[in-house]
This record gives sequence, structure tokens and C-alpha cells, in this order.
Amino acid sequence: MNDFLFNQEEFDKSYDELFKYAESLGYGELHFKMDQKTGLRAIIAIHSLKLGPALGGCRCIRYSSVREAIRDALRLAQMMTYKASISGLPHGGGKSVLIQPDVIQDREAYFNSFGEFVDSLNGRYITAMDSGTSTDDMDAIAQKTSYVTCTKHHFSQEGDPSPFTAKGVLRGIEAAVRYKFNKKDIKGIRVAVQGVGHVGYNLVKGLHQRGVQLTVSDTDDELVKQCVREFKVKSIDSETIYETDCDVFSPCALGAVLNRANIQKIKAPIIAGAANNQLAQLEDGEFIHERGILYAPDFVINAGGLMQVAYTYDGEKPEKIDEQIEQLYDKLLNIFERSAQENLPTSKIAEILALENLR
Ligand code: NAD
Repeated sequence: MNDFLFNQEEFDKSYDELFKYAESLGYGELHFKMDQKTGLRAIIAIHSLKLGPALGGCRCIRYSSVREAIRDALRLAQMMTYKASISGLPHGGGKSVLIQPDVIQDREAYFNSFGEFVDSLNGRYITAMDSGTSTDDMDAIAQKTSYVTCTKHHFSQEGDPSPFTAKGVLRGIEAAVRYKFNKKDIKGIRVAVQGVGHVGYNLVKGLHQRGVQLTVSDTDDELVKQCVREFKVKSIDSETIYETDCDVFSPCALGAVLNRANIQKIKAPIIAGAANNQLAQLEDGEFIHERGILYAPDFVINAGGLMQVAYTYDGEKPEKIDEQIEQLYDKLLNIFERSAQENLPTSKIAEILALENLR
């Protein structure tokens, strides 16, 4: 669909479909900016402002089509609404997607231009770091707007959000192990981690310290080697990790990995990881439930990073971040229990809880 812009009929159909899709997700606002001077092609999706200004990361990655980029923004911003709501944060859900050009000639100018775009929304959207962006990029955005976090100023003490996300995922794994195996301690539990980037690496480190038996995969061999060297983990290739004989499968790489084909292969009785939008389709949550696998819903278990970003931006005390991350344990236990009582997928229960706060 790369060339749909040149086909009027296809163009109309695509956008009709996109607007219908946006409506079905309960949108919201969708903003576009292009700047030929810097190569910026940016989309800001604001899903909800009900609980406060929308907060969500700025992703700068390659997309095969504009449509794919818009879909990504729409899906991610909706999830941010749910994540902020279930985490009790005074924020709505938003996300920005920058369609990464072949070359960014002047990175500072590129992010300055994006900063002007964010500023033009008058605080309805606050941006943050995400895949493909750094604290330097956030600093460049901050030259043009105050509606940005993850800048060096904000993170002079705390560092990037990934360790906080990993901490929350670790507590989530502990809650799932407690629920499924009635064990308070995760020592000796076997966990397979898919993706050992920023979050995955920190998670592996924490699990290793607790005596967990680890298997890891990553498409980047160097990252796998680092984990093998530092934590004596086993490694496995990215495709066969689903079939690993283990207690917990922890997706910490891509979204949409929990599709029907992969779910069928998973041997682990627990799925608990950091990746956003893990379910390829909503129905996949039902399939996981039918298979008797305990799934820790993504936007609940991976909220530690958002908590840190939001509380830091809002000027809350650092202790509050730890307190809230700690509460993920009970929050997930409650979701698991309700799922069993009501015979509904955990993903559905999490959605119901998030929507309750949005009424
Ligand atoms: P990252 O880019 O640092 O790490 C992702 C890793 O996955 C990379 O090392 C990459 O090489 C690897 N990978 C890509 N495709 C793979 C595949 N098919 N199999 C195995 N590995 C593969 O990203 P991150 O910040 O660690 O985030 C990981 C996931 O968690 C993402 O889905 C992200 O959206 C989500 N998340 C991150 C945060 C955070 O604080 N960084 C917060 C919430 C959710």
C-alpha cells in the first residue's frame, strides 16, 4: 500500500477505513505535520483528555506506509489512555509517531520542528521518550515547548524509564507466580525473555538476582552475548523462544506477538512481559484464556515507566513512583482473581477496570 496516495479511489478507501478505525477506538484527535526543510513527517494521536492532559512517548522509527504509522499511533495512544487510567494517573492517552526518513540531516532542527508541533496543541499533549528517541531529542523538543518530559533536566536524578518498567514487570511476574503456583518466591522459576533491550536487560538483571533460571532471545546477537556473559543465561533464537519449556514467557520486544499461531506454540503457563500491544487482536486474549494460560495484561504490568515519567513531570516525590510500582502486585492479583470468578480473559477485566475510571 505504499503508493495509495497516487490512487484516488484507494486513497479515499484507506482514509475512510482509518477514520472508522479511529472511531471504533473512541477517538479523539489526530494531528499531522510535515516540514520539508527538516524531513519531519509527524502524527500526534490524542485518544482521551478525560483524566487530564494526554501523555505518551514519541516514537521515531521506519514505517512501510503512512497508513501503518497512523495505525500505530492510534493503537498506542488508546493503550496510553487505559494505562494512565488503570494506574490512577491524572493523564489522558496520547502518542506521537515520527516516520523516520532515510537520513535526518540535522537532528536538532528535526526535533525543534516537532517541538513546535507539540507546542501548537497548547498542552493537550505532553511528549516523552520512546523507541528511536533519546534524552538529547527531548532536549531539542524542550527548546520549543514545555510540554515535554524525559529531558536531561527531568531525569538528572532518575535516568531513563526502562528500569522502572522492568521493576514493575518483575513484580508482575512475582504476582503471576504467586497466583498460578501459589509460590511467594520466584527462585528456581524458569523465565524466557524475548528481547533484551532497555527493559529486557534490566528485567533479566533483576530476575537473575532472585535466582530465576533464564533463557533469552534477541535479534541483536551482541545483546544476547552480553546477557550470557553477565548473567550466565541460556540463549535461544527469536523464533523458537515461544516453544521454550518454561514457567513464564516474557515478551519484551515487539507488539502483536500474541497472535493465534504463536499462542498455540507457547508452553509456558504464564505470559508476563513489557511489550506494548502484545495481543495481535482482542480475541487473542480469549484464546489465551481458553488455553488456560495466565496473561498479565500489557498496559497494567508495563506501567512502571509511565508512572515514573508522569510523576516526574508532575513534580511528585520519587517515593511515590516506588509505592505505585509496588501496588502492581496486588492490582494484578485482583485482575487474575476476577478473571477466574467471571470466567473472562484477564485482558478484558483490565479493560473494564480502565474504562470504569473513564466514565
Ligand atoms: P528496545 O528497543 O530497547 O528493546 C527491544 C529489543 O527487542 C531490542 O533489543 C531488539 O533488538 C529486540 N527485538 C526486536 N525484534 C525482536 C524479535 N523478533 N525477537 C527478539 N528480540 C527482538 O525497547 P525497550 O525500551 O526495551 O522496550 C521493549 C518493549 O517494551 C517495547 O514493546 C516497548 O514498547 C515496551 N515498553 C517499554 C517501556 C520502557 O520504559 N522503555 C515502557 C512500556 C512498554
